[in-house]
Amino acid sequence: MFELAGADVRGYKRGDRVTFDSTVYCGKCGYCRRGEVNLCDNRQVIGVSCGEYRRNGAFAEYISVPRISLVRKPQSLSHEQAGSAGVTFVTAWCAVSEYAALKAGETIVVIGSKGGVGHAAVQIAKHLGAFVIGINRSRDDEAILEDLVLNSSDPKLPELLRSMNAGKGVDVVLNTAGGSMFEIGLTLLAHQGRQVEITSPTGRKANFDLVDFYHNESRLFGLDTLKRDLVASARILEKVAEGFATGTYQPHKIDQVLPLEEARQAYEHVSTGHGGRVVLSMIPIQSGGTE
Ligand SMILES: [Zn+2]
Repeated sequence: MFELAGADVRGYKRGDRVTFDSTVYCGKCGYCRRGEVNLCDNRQVIGVSCGEYRRNGAFAEYISVPRISLVRKPQSLSHEQAGSAGVTFVTAWCAVSEYAALKAGETIVVIGSKGGVGHAAVQIAKHLGAFVIGINRSRDDEAILEDLVLNSSDPKLPELLRSMNAGKGVDVVLNTAGGSMFEIGLTLLAHQGRQVEITSPTGRKANFDLVDFYHNESRLFGLDTLKRDLVASARILEKVAEGFATGTYQPHKIDQVLPLEEARQAYEHVSTGHGGRVVLSMIPIQSGGTE
């Protein structure tokens, strides 16, 4: 909730519901002067990040952020939903819409379609008019938003997927599972297909067939949304917010809402790889309020 503004902040008033991008830049270094603020020498990331970039103060009742990074919270979302949707939807938007440039009528495979980014990517891809196939670890996962869901441990998976698109392969693979699925993803690609990598919790190294890769003219993208400047992220958040307001996008299921005092337990819970979003609430939970 917007509380207090500096003298030159216009357009917001006390009580406005807002969200913000977490990257802050200096505006003075060589990169900033060239407009490449995402590479700023003095870049800081509010909240959780590696020590080099960390700007403390996110786990607090009040926080001070630059006005330029603010976006109004969609009315259709609670604070908990908005808090858990921002990063995942910005990442999914960059991967699907910008890097892979997914088009209507194309086929996309989302590896980890039930995770936070995967769930957002499925909705964005469906909205763009693509055929969406989800791949997940659990055998019980059903297609809810996806057109089809497959199990990652199925040995016939690559064969099955290639046969489905008239033997041509798929246009886009979004891999949210990292190294263990990297090579499988590449084998699924149609000629000039695009694969986007956003993380690798399952290892730093991956092998792939370079000869097949160039014969197929495959495209490979690495995406790190922390390299995006906050103006670009704010623009994406605004587009995503419109989608929430119109009901095009639905927030991911929230697994748990914990008070700030239980932040340690919340991180321990997430580190177990348990599905679902965990939200830290700044508001006493027993009050039942979400605003
Ligand atoms: Zn700078």
